[in-house]
Amino acid sequence: MSRLNVIKEDPWYKDGLKFTCTQCGKCCTGENGEVWLTDKDVDLFAKGLKISRQDFLDQYTSKVFDKTLLNKKTNGDCIFLKNKKCTAHHSRPAQCRSFPYWPSSLKSKETWEGLKNKCEGIEHKDAEVIPLEEITKNLSQVSDRNLSF
Ligand code: SF4
Ligand code: SF4
Repeated sequence: MSRLNVIKEDPWYKDGLKFTCTQCGKCCTGENGEVWLTDKDVDLFAKGLKISRQDFLDQYTSKVFDKTLLNKKTNGDCIFLKNKKCTAHHSRPAQCRSFPYWPSSLKSKETWEGLKNKCEGIEHKDAEVIPLEEITKNLSQVSDRNLSF
């Protein structure tokens, strides 16, 4: 019987990626601002805000079918965005924490570079190289989700 050896190729970004968040706030507003929450995200928010899970769900989220969506203000900004800054930085959900290392962004060099139009931190001239380990850690938080920006 032959043994099947699965050879895992290095990802195209194995040498890291240049990124820094300039805090422009663009990913937290408008049509880009749909933020879906897991149960773990809800727990983190509730803990950070020092309120119960139920109060958090009632005050800050909406139910879309069986999914939990973070509410937005009428202008399209995320409910936690103030002066282009996230006021819930330490409680922000996996979707926000892992950006821009989403499966859809990392599909290829082209998809990564295509995001430059939407996120000015990608390949920013002052950005440091984010190592593969950090990219992989972020990606693993949302690897089973179909997120796009
Ligand atoms: S769009 Fe990019 S640079 Fe701007 S706040 Fe979002 S992650 Fe940071
Ligand atoms: S929770 Fe914070 S990081 Fe996430 S979309 Fe809202 S303001 Fe932006």
